[in-house]
Amino acid sequence: MNQLQRTKELHQQTSDWLSNLGSIQLSAIELLRDILRWNEYRYYVQNDPLISDAEYDILFKILQKFEQENPGIISPDSPTQRVGVGLANDFSKVEHLVPMLSLENSYNADDLIDWDRKARELSTLENLEYCVEPKFDGASISLIYENNLLTRSATRGDGTVGDEITLNTKQIKSVPLSAQFNSYGIEQIEIRGEVLINKKNFKAYNEKLMEEGLPPFANPRNAAAGSLRIKDPIVVSKRNLEVFLYHISFITNSEKSTTHKIPSENSPLIQQPKSHSEMLEMLWELGFRSPKHEMKVVKGINGVIKYIEEFEEKRDGLPYEIDGMVVKVNDLQLQEKLGMTSHHPRWAIAFKFKARQGTSKLLSVEFQVGRTGAVTPVAKINPVMVGGVTVSSISIHNEEYIKEKDLKLGDTILIERSGDVIPQIVKSFTELRTGNETNILFPKNCPVCDHELFKPLEEAVWRCININCTAQVVERIIHFVSKDAMDIKNFGEANVRKFYEIGLIKDIPDIYRLDFEKIGQMEGFGKKSIDNLQTAIELSKSQPLHRLIFGLGIRYVGETTAKTLANSVNHLLDFNQFDEEKLIQLEDVGIKVAGSIHRFFRDEVNLLMLQELEGLGISLKNQKKQIAENDTLAGQTFLFTGSLVKLKRTDAEEMVEQNGGKIVSGVSSKLNYLVVGEDAGSKLEKAKKIQSIKIINEEDFIKMLSK
Ligand code: AMP
Ligand code: ZN
Repeated sequence: MNQLQRTKELHQQTSDWLSNLGSIQLSAIELLRDILRWNEYRYYVQNDPLISDAEYDILFKILQKFEQENPGIISPDSPTQRVGVGLANDFSKVEHLVPMLSLENSYNADDLIDWDRKARELSTLENLEYCVEPKFDGASISLIYENNLLTRSATRGDGTVGDEITLNTKQIKSVPLSAQFNSYGIEQIEIRGEVLINKKNFKAYNEKLMEEGLPPFANPRNAAAGSLRIKDPIVVSKRNLEVFLYHISFITNSEKSTTHKIPSENSPLIQQPKSHSEMLEMLWELGFRSPKHEMKVVKGINGVIKYIEEFEEKRDGLPYEIDGMVVKVNDLQLQEKLGMTSHHPRWAIAFKFKARQGTSKLLSVEFQVGRTGAVTPVAKINPVMVGGVTVSSISIHNEEYIKEKDLKLGDTILIERSGDVIPQIVKSFTELRTGNETNILFPKNCPVCDHELFKPLEEAVWRCININCTAQVVERIIHFVSKDAMDIKNFGEANVRKFYEIGLIKDIPDIYRLDFEKIGQMEGFGKKSIDNLQTAIELSKSQPLHRLIFGLGIRYVGETTAKTLANSVNHLLDFNQFDEEKLIQLEDVGIKVAGSIHRFFRDEVNLLMLQELEGLGISLKNQKKQIAENDTLAGQTFLFTGSLVKLKRTDAEEMVEQNGGKIVSGVSSKLNYLVVGEDAGSKLEKAKKIQSIKIINEEDFIKMLSK
């Protein structure tokens, strides 16, 4: 059956199930499992779900209920069997069937040309065919399937012996619990790949850690590797790990029960792959997320170099981190002939992209008081370029973090900037110490108001608990007007400080009562800048609700949680009616967060401030939700190109989704609307060639939404 037929058939069956929920036969349960597995595959592997999360949950709950009532029918690869309640990892040591080696590295075209020459000499061939694919920046894992079932998974460890992490691997939804290897005549197989945490989840998770005063992970790689080492699989399941599988290291065929390396000579039911690219294809067909769509087969090293250059341009736009590309000799027989050293295979080489790391010196530490009174140490370092930006100061979070990273004044440090995440210190080079390094000393009193600092028992940060502490009031206002919150352009940190100093603003609502005449008399404020400021303040009154919520600076409520909160009410003051229990039901809201939100909305002072803001014309309504209920864009697909003027690209994309539309990743006949901003490029050219695509500008888009 081809993919399209299978899609149609399984979607039909999904629909049948959803419309016949009342009359379920015991015998139909295996079909229901297949339906759930297939919909997981659509969601997690193909990234293209055909039913809603809620519909999936309905089907999942039915299966769960059935299995609870009939425990005899539970199969180990049932979709309900990922989460084993009450189980814990013991990370016992396991030996790999085949050692997990490293890769040889290259950094420029010349390195690749040299490597290609050697590979051609060794293989005595004129021209080699290569398969080029991304080098995923995560933690490597091995999966073993026996008789179609996932039986063991392990970390790389030292390459020979790793840690058994099967329970944790089962929490990764793109890892199938079973697959039809028997149709290829395979009895036992070992598959290797990389566990990742995507940029969005990484950012959200780090935000959450920082809201709780905990140090974030320096990069998604550490976050993925750390997640695999958590004892409780249920905690692991919340990390939303993903996987790419790119290698088969071992196969035992069932017919003869003899062990042989692929490719196999005696072709069983379906031909086993003869090349690396066919292997990725086979994995994809079996339901694994292989880099089938990311890889390219090319003849000769020049094509390899070209594809690597092309791919590097896409790097920032990818949803996950990659740190380079891997070039592999495509022919599996030739791979075997080339063999390996004790360190790496001779048939593959990694090409490393420009590092987003740099080294610098830790010069001094300043202590900043934040809007919640938290005192954060900020390291001043010798300015260094990391991933295209100059870094001269870097947060070092709290005392524990300083201890854990073993940081001293005068240390040489390694810095990393991953994606759009703020730079982090990876480590200090203790081996470079001269003996002149000194300890970082924490103050006992607030560096701004001199009030004694306090550290709550269960927290990692020291706080100034003086609510009138100037630093906190000013930081609250700065946060409110900031780009990620109410985004009041032309206001900025410097103006907040100035206006506060001369008594023009004492708290957030004063922003909307500014005396512009008085500002006009201040130095540096011409008519134009006052006009701009006035317009920006006016515009901010109708910012989406999640921005206001984030701007309020409620403890533990970062941007992600603010969005969740905004989506669950029609009006901000509806939170009056939410008790902690109701708050905990919201996605990503735990006990601590719920407690903080509850306290905020129970506090008279806060409620008065919100009413004051509403009186001043600030919208406390969830505008998006009201539009979403119309489903204005239902069933329509969108893609943006070029730079938008009025909207942020991410906001615009979100609006599409909120209104029932969908964002697609490229120009194809599946695209309904291409929204064209300034300096649009190749997407526009491509779209012009497809008649069915409607090409509109930003204005048209905004008009569509307001319909
Ligand atoms: P390194 O750790 O720098 O020696 O690089 C080797 C590691 O790269 C392997 O152990 C894999 O975990 C990882 N890797 C990521 N993507 C790929 C890929 N497409 N093919 C092979 N290895 C990969
Ligand atoms: Zn203070």
